[in-house]
Amino acid sequence: MPHDYPKELTAAVAAVRAASALCAAVQAQISPEVLEKKDRSPVTVADFGSQALVCKAIRQAFPNDPIIAEEDAGALRETENTELLDRVVANVRSQEPGASADDVCRWIDFGGASEYADRYWTLDPIDGTKGFLRKEQYAVSLALIVDGKITVAALGCPNLPETVDGAGPRGAIFTAVAGQGASVIAHNYDTAQPIKVSDTADPADARFCESVESGHSSHGDSETIASQLNITNPPVRLDSQAKYATVARGEADIYLRLPTRKDYVERIWDHAGGVLVVQEAGGTVTDVLGKGLEFTHGKGLENNKGVIVTNGKLHDAVLAVVEELGIGRD
Ligand code: AMP
Ligand code: MG
Repeated sequence: MPHDYPKELTAAVAAVRAASALCAAVQAQISPEVLEKKDRSPVTVADFGSQALVCKAIRQAFPNDPIIAEEDAGALRETENTELLDRVVANVRSQEPGASADDVCRWIDFGGASEYADRYWTLDPIDGTKGFLRKEQYAVSLALIVDGKITVAALGCPNLPETVDGAGPRGAIFTAVAGQGASVIAHNYDTAQPIKVSDTADPADARFCESVESGHSSHGDSETIASQLNITNPPVRLDSQAKYATVARGEADIYLRLPTRKDYVERIWDHAGGVLVVQEAGGTVTDVLGKGLEFTHGKGLENNKGVIVTNGKLHDAVLAVVEELGIGRD
């Protein structure tokens, strides 16, 4: 069946592919000394570089579409950050050879929209910055939202092995178009393979994933939920929307993102791409109260608390335990 939104999907995949290549090159250069010094500059360089490449490509293909992206070039334009800007430009030039410093700052700021619109893109140029610095998982997440519905998604996971336990070559782009299914494109191949969530129907057999960072999702609550559901498999902990990808390709059955504070509002770019990939692979995504995520409030998921992702079959069982424990009800 021909895809709806073919131009959008093609542009999104090309943009995420270029950004993923930039990020992978920067991550490969992180040395033990950089890690030891707790030098965050590699992630800053890749974050800005990724946003420049994606926003340039989307603006060129769709000049009227606003883009709500995580970064802005304000800090990069300050004279004290010239050296940082030079590093960003050098990395962007590996994909866009003619780019100037001015171009790069301008492209980054194409991502400066913040209000809801009938049609807009949202971008996390590097989701999972802590994973990126640990040389583990991170993602480049891009989605198009039309009339409040996620319509096209391209989720780059440049360091994700072919199987979650570490085997096989690394790197994939997960794609989805609303109503048309989800696919994975391994970096070395041009063909997209359809993906599907798992068939696991007994919660006791489930594998769940969650953030590495306990500040982003309560590990204590997930442990309680798992024990109530008789889950004995240990949690799969990984950074970024690679968790959505892991559920979408059937390697985990559940992804729990459980509030750690009452006042935290989830950011749309941390979810939009991953949500559509899971939904189109046959899974279900709600917040901890069972409500669908609302991409109609600008940058934040203002009306939602936490996120629960499952293969669909396990959703009611997980929500029932979450409700029983009173999670997100304050
Ligand atoms: P993860 O890699 O899944 O742990 O999520 C990384 C994302 O968590 C970052 O992009 C932040 O936007 C987001 N984040 C920061 N603080 C919190 C918090 N208190 N609760 C939930 N997410 C957070
Ligand atoms: Mg993020």
